[in-house]
This record gives sequence, C-alpha cells and structure tokens, in this order.
Amino acid sequence: MPNAFGGYDETPQSMVKVMEEWCNNGWVNIVGGCCGTTPEHIEAFVAMAERFEPRVPSLGRDVPRFSGLEPLLIRPNSNFVNVGERTNVTGSRKFAKLIKEDNYEAALTVARQQVEGGAQMIDVNMDEGMLDGEAAMVKFLNLMASEPDIARLPVMVDSSKWSVIEAGLKCLQGKSVVNSISLKEGEAVFKHQAKLIRRYGAAVVVMAFDEEGQATRFERRTQIAQRAYNILVDDIGFKSQDIIFDPNILTVATGIEEHNSYAVDFIKATQWIKKHLPGTLVSGGVSNISFSFRGNDPVREAMHSAFLYHAIKAGMDMGIVNAGMLEVYEDIPKDLLEHVEDVLLNRRANATERLVSFAENVKAKDKSPEKLLAWREQAVDERLKYALVKGITDYLEEDLEEARPNYDKTLSIIEGPLMAGMNVVGDLFGEGKMFLPQVVKSARVMKKAVAYLLPYLEAEKVLGEGARKSAGKILMATVKGDVHDIGKNIVGVVLACNNYEIIDLGVMVSSDKILAEAIAQKVDIIGLSGLITPSLDEMVHVAREMNRQGFHLPLLIGGATTSKAHTAVKISPAYHGDTVHVLDASRSVEVVSKLLSNEHRPSYSKAIKEEYALVRERYQSYDRKLISLAEARENRPQLSFNPSTPAQLGVYSLDHYDLKILRERIDWTPFFIAWELSGRYPNIFDDPHKGEEAKKLFQDANAMLDKLIEQQSLRARAVYGIFEANSQGDDIEVYRQAKQVATFYSLRQQSEKRSGQANYALADFIAPKSSVQDYLGAFAVSIHGAEALAKAYEADHDDYNAIMVKVLADRLAEAFAEHLHERLRKEFWGYAKDENFSNEDIIREHYQGIRPAPGYPSQPDHTEKATIWQLLEVEKHTGMVLSEHYAMSPAASVSGLYFAHPESKYFAIQKLNREQVLDYAKRKGMSLAETERWLAPYLAYEPSELPSE
Ligand code: SAH
Repeated sequence: MPNAFGGYDETPQSMVKVMEEWCNNGWVNIVGGCCGTTPEHIEAFVAMAERFEPRVPSLGRDVPRFSGLEPLLIRPNSNFVNVGERTNVTGSRKFAKLIKEDNYEAALTVARQQVEGGAQMIDVNMDEGMLDGEAAMVKFLNLMASEPDIARLPVMVDSSKWSVIEAGLKCLQGKSVVNSISLKEGEAVFKHQAKLIRRYGAAVVVMAFDEEGQATRFERRTQIAQRAYNILVDDIGFKSQDIIFDPNILTVATGIEEHNSYAVDFIKATQWIKKHLPGTLVSGGVSNISFSFRGNDPVREAMHSAFLYHAIKAGMDMGIVNAGMLEVYEDIPKDLLEHVEDVLLNRRANATERLVSFAENVKAKDKSPEKLLAWREQAVDERLKYALVKGITDYLEEDLEEARPNYDKTLSIIEGPLMAGMNVVGDLFGEGKMFLPQVVKSARVMKKAVAYLLPYLEAEKVLGEGARKSAGKILMATVKGDVHDIGKNIVGVVLACNNYEIIDLGVMVSSDKILAEAIAQKVDIIGLSGLITPSLDEMVHVAREMNRQGFHLPLLIGGATTSKAHTAVKISPAYHGDTVHVLDASRSVEVVSKLLSNEHRPSYSKAIKEEYALVRERYQSYDRKLISLAEARENRPQLSFNPSTPAQLGVYSLDHYDLKILRERIDWTPFFIAWELSGRYPNIFDDPHKGEEAKKLFQDANAMLDKLIEQQSLRARAVYGIFEANSQGDDIEVYRQAKQVATFYSLRQQSEKRSGQANYALADFIAPKSSVQDYLGAFAVSIHGAEALAKAYEADHDDYNAIMVKVLADRLAEAFAEHLHERLRKEFWGYAKDENFSNEDIIREHYQGIRPAPGYPSQPDHTEKATIWQLLEVEKHTGMVLSEHYAMSPAASVSGLYFAHPESKYFAIQKLNREQVLDYAKRKGMSLAETERWLAPYLAYEPSELPSE
C-alpha cells in the first residue's frame, strides 16, 4: 500500500501525477479525497482516472478467506494452515474431562495453548454421548469470544450433529468453517444444510461420504468430491474458495490389505481435486493416519510429518493437526523415514510388517525422552508397579535386578511392589476402568516377573507362586467331550490377577479327574466351562457326582452355552452346595471373593439360592404351547423348487489354504466380543471408553496375523461336497450315482405360529422325492496349529498371546467357512455366479442360501456331525476329529450343510414334545433315552418322569 497522503500541500496536478503512476502500476482503482482535497482535486482525479480501463479484480478476491477477529487468507503461496485439534472432546481426554466437569475456565486454557502453539484456526467439537452438545458448544464459543487472543482465530465448528453446528454458527462472528457435511444422507439433506451454511456466511468442509458410505478408493473419493462440488456451486451458489474437501485420511498399516493404499489414494485425490475443482481447498484429520501405532509416538510423529510432506506437495491446504505430534521432516532418521514412506506410499507388499517390526526398535531405543521416560525416573518399586499396571515388560529384568538387593527375601518383591500393581489392576478392572486385554497384559508382566525370580526363590527354599499366600485355590476345567477353553483361560488369568491360585486342568476333563484333583489339591472352588450344548449335560453330571461324594465346595458354571436359567433349573438342584453361573470374566472376581469370604458367604449364598428358586419358578410356570407333530408338519412352508444343477458333484478337499485370503473375510466383531470388548467393528474404534483399547487390540491382532501368515504357522484345511438329494418327510436323503449314501435327519418347530407363519424343518428346503432332483452340500473347515503356538506362549508366561492366537484361529476358521461358502455359490455349485458382495454384506448374510451347523438352533442335534464326517471322510481329508460329545478338534473348526434354496433361512427349533423326540429317535435308530440326552436343553418335558423306551 502506498503511503497515505493528504491534499494540503499538494496541487491537484502533483497528486494526479502520483496517482497516475499508481494506476499505471495497477495498484489502485478507486480514488477518493481526504481532508484538504478540493473540488478541483476531484475533477482532476476523475479526468485522470477516465484515461484508464477499470481494473480487473485481482486474484486476491477469490482467495479463500476466513476470520475470527482477524482475517486469515490462504494465498497460493501461503503455508499449510494448522487447525488446532485439542479443543475436541472426542480427540482429547483432558478437554473432555474439563468440559464434563463444567470447568470451562481450564478448557479455555486448552484453546489458548493451541493459539500459542501456532494453530491458525481452532476446531471445536462437543460430540460426546454424555454431553448436551448444543449447550456445551454455545457456552464454550461464547466464552471464547470474550478472550481476544483466542477469538482472533477463525473457528471450525465440528460436529456430526447438524443442530450443534447450527447452534455454533449462531454464536460466531467473522467467517467460520463448518466441519462437516456430506452426501451420506442424500442430496436433499446436503442441499438444505449447504444453503443454511451459506446464509450464515460460513465456509464448509465436505467429507467424502455418500449414500453408500465412506469413500476409500481414489475413484470414489474424487467422484463424490465432483458431485458435491457441482451441487454446491451450481445449485446453491457456493464460491469454490468456500469449499474445503476432506477426502478422508484413513488409517494405514492395519494389516488389512485394502488399507494399504489409503494414504496414496488421499494424496492422489488431493492432486485431482486441486486440478479439477479449481479454487477449492483440501483438508483432513492427520492423526488418523497413524492410529495403528498408538503408543509409539516417535513412529506416529514421523508418519504425520512424512504424510504431510507428500500431501502438501500434492496440494493439501490445511489440516487438523496436533502440532506437538509432528517431527521435522528433515529430522526423521533415514531408516525410519524409509519404512514409514514405504507404508504411506504403498511402495512394497510387506511394508506394514516391516514397519511394525522396525517400530519395535524405535520404541525401545527411541522412547520420546520426556514423556515416555518420566516413569523411569521414579524409584524402582514404583517402576515395577507402573510396569505391571501398564503391561510393559521391556525393563522388567533390569528393574527386578535393581530391586533385589533392597529386599531380604525375594518373595517380598512379589508380595510388595508387584502385588501392589496387581491390586491396582484388579481395582481398575472391577470399576470398569480397565479392559480385559490390558488385564491380560498385566498378568503377563506378573508371570514373567515370577518366572524371572524363580531361581532366587528356589535358592531361598521358597517355591515360586505356590509359596505366596494366595487368596484362594480355584480348580478350573473344560468338561469332558468339549475342547473350548478361551473363556476358561481368560477367567483364569483374571482371577490370578486378583491373587487367586489357579489349577487349570485343561480341556476334555472327566468328572472323576476333576473331583479327584479337587480333593488332592485341597481347592476352595471348582469352576466348570464348556461351549457346546452337550457340555451342559456333562456339568449336570459333575454336579450330581459332587453331591453323591459329599462335596461342599462352591461350584462355578461358565461358558458360551451356559446360562443362569440352565444353572438354576438343571445344575443347582443336582448339588446341595453353592452353584453360581458366572456371566463373564469381569464378574468372576466378585463372585469368587464373596464365596470365599467368611463374612459375606452366608448372605451371598442365601441370595443366590433365592434368586435361582425364582428363576426355576418362572421357568416352570412358563406355558409352552406346542402343537402336535402332525399339525406342525401340516403347517410346513410350501416352497416351489427349481434347483440349479451344481457345476461339480462329489467330495473335494483343500489344504494349506492361503491365510491371506481368509484374513480378508474375517468378521471382527466377534473378535472384540471374545476379548469382552463388545461393540460393532469398526465403530468400536470411535467408542469414547473402549475405542483406544480396541484399536490397540486390533493392532496386536494384525501384527500377529502378519507373523502367522509370514511364518505359515497355521494350516487351513477343508473338505466339502455336493450331492444329489431329496427330502422324504423330515429327512434328507443323500445319493451318489442314484444310490442312497446318507440321511440327514431334521427336527421341526412345534411352537404355535401366528397365521401365515410356517413350522420349519431343514428338510423343507430340499425338494421332496416325488418332485425334482435336488442337491445338498456339506463342509468342514479347520485351522490347525493354534494349540501348539498357544502352548509355546504359555511356556513363555505370555497368556496374552496364547489367548490371542486361539481367538485368531477361531476367526480364521469362521472366515474360511465364509470364504468356502462364497466359492461354493460362485464356482463349485455356481448357483450365484454373478454375486458380488462386500465383506460386510457377506457377514450380514445377504447372499442366497444357508450353511446351518449341527448343534445350532435350526438343527440342535450335535450327533448329525457324525453323518457329515462319514459322508465327506472329514478326518481323512482334514485331520479334524469329533470327541465323544461331538466337539470338533482342533477347536478352531466349523462344519455344516449347504442349502441353496432362495427361501432357505436360519430358524430356531425351540422346544420339542415327546412325540417328536420319539419319532426322531426311531428314524435315527437311536434309543429315546440317548436322543433325550443329546436334545436335553430342547425338551418341553421332563424325560425322567416318563418311562423310557
Ligand atoms: N461371521 C460370524 C459367523 C458365524 S455364526 C463369525 O465369524 O463368527 C454364523 C454361522 O452359524 C452360520 O453360518 C451357521 O453356520 C451357523 N448358524 C447361525 N444360526 C444358525 C441357526 N439358527 N441354525 C443353524 N446354524 C446356524
């Protein structure tokens, strides 16, 4: 800008001369007078100005501009704009806590720190379940407005709720930014919101979402940007400089192949947007990119900087960044940078695995000095306690060595600092402030510490853990005929964390062995576990035996098919002692501590007895209305049959199946449930309480998967077959070359249905013998090798990884079942060749056909597995075996039948009357008593009250 000048001492001519020069230089286009100018001046100015063409507005007009009290202009050569992210309740725990405690003074300090830290815009987010988002947004923005040093900056009002955004916009002066809107809910909503934003005079962040969801591929990211751009500019009249695209910064290095190109796709999409949607801006939330490396700040910082380096080169204008989490690009050590960029730029196939293993070292030697090492400065006892609570094994040996001379007896280290840490863990878990995976990691520290100290304990003539005064001895076992032990092992670890001594007898343990060990080891409690329904009956058997042999110990019941109702109705009456159902590991401590406390046991025992009596009463008064078998059959579904001929008939097997393919089909939600972190994947990562833990767990799981796949330490085996088949009443006859080779027996629903609803049996989905030729498939899949790996981890005192490998093997087995089913539909049978579903659609069973598993609600009889085994020669082809109770080994196994009928669906056989059980027993050639034993949980009558055949 030229200096201002007045007209006092200037003649019109001298001023015109100067002005002429300005105009020639294109500096001004409006001239006016100030004090001292006279009409002559003006006349001279006008005459002069007329000789020039009106100035064409410079680019500057289209420059994106935002403002708080002060403007923020983004010119082509402007630096990257940092948006402060800490004033966000979902991103900063500290801020969330302050807001929840109504401590807005301190919350303002967080905003001020952002300004001082160099933020040029401030993102404010109040999206938290427990908060009134609108009220909190309004209050905070109003308070900010009264702090000139903060109010100087433009604000980004951030919410997924429109009402919160609008409430925020109403408080803001200047030109703010809405973060964000998208086409997620369709064009109508999008347009409505865009119009209002324009009316409030704000700019807008548009996320790359549409009706189909989040865009992850380059093509979708850019298509959605183009579509949003057209609507905003053409229909709503937005200026391009008021549009900020966020083409989704998504987490890389998750171990999932699809995610490998996320960073590259963002960078490419940025380039594309800057070229094809000129004038618009690109932004994004940077810390997302590195979520897989939570807890490893040096790696995360390097990832953020390297990512920004490339994204900014591609044209990214601004981003939500934690300025404290950025390394200087040039200062990133070369080897780390190479690994990081391999991942970000997707430069090599195994980039993730390489970075994960490299990151381990970065972590160990490069712990960011102040924050991470602060705990290392404390006294050694405090460090041991800290390591226990945080589950850190890195410094264990050196700390234990340092602590030893301080103690007369080695045992005192265990009973002192280590138990102190364990107690904290127990308390936090009990209060729901710590999650199962963390507890199991803490247990690993304890076990490793004890193992390390063992030689000293022995030298001091004290024997390991046994010598510690435990809070009680608990015997645990998976009952006879069952092989599942994940739940039992988890309960064992949790109880051990609470200073109980665990005697784990493993799986498939007979009643005799359990009771003999209980006596020999003088245990205080017996805990039984099981997953399959026959285990329920086995538990009743153990309870009866305990009664007969005069036991008084409390009996705990747990496992997937167990329930309070079953425990109350079937097990508890069989045993005079306390019998308690334990829902999950987090409940186990409370139950055990009450049962072992002289003070609490009498009242607890009484309360449980009363509660279970009530459950029994309700159960018995429940009037189950069943119709006769003939009526049920009469009311079967009337289906028409148009079977598609299978591409191949006969039995086929697969071995050493590629785990990488199976990994893509994993359903992760049950994985989190197994770790007692319930919530749907991937939304669980956004959960304010367990999100962080879920991410860590997911990262650990993927690191392990990488290793399992690379080292080929698990073996995936499968067998499947497709056969000619027809139904004959409720039976399904299976033929090979027109000769009947097997029969599957199905059970029929007998509950009284509303009109229009049928009573189903699986046989209904196969064409009757009198009609057309139909087909049936069967399969068995398994993952071998997890047991051995888990044993090795256990030997290394690492229950965390022992449990992890089993949980993952289960996931891979289910994924194999899913994948094989998909191939069956598309290739082997080929009745749905053109099917094309996402993993999510598949998990939601959007495809045609079902694969019911024996032992599940549509066919609760586990013994039907024997027919699958014989028909497919399952053991020969896959090495899978059935226990005497029809549990499959290895535990990570799935088997079932394939039905292709478009109307086939899963249903539940609820209760059966004696008439059907007798009919079924006759058809199968089994005795009534045996049939009743296998179907015990499904009987609508007391078998023992009736004479058996
Ligand atoms: N995605 C899940 C799938 C397992 S559970 C996972 O990874 O754990 C779904 C399977 O259980 C089905 O494919 C079927 O084999 C069995 N199933 C579920 N409901 C059933 C029912 N009512 N009757 C028989 N089998 C059933």
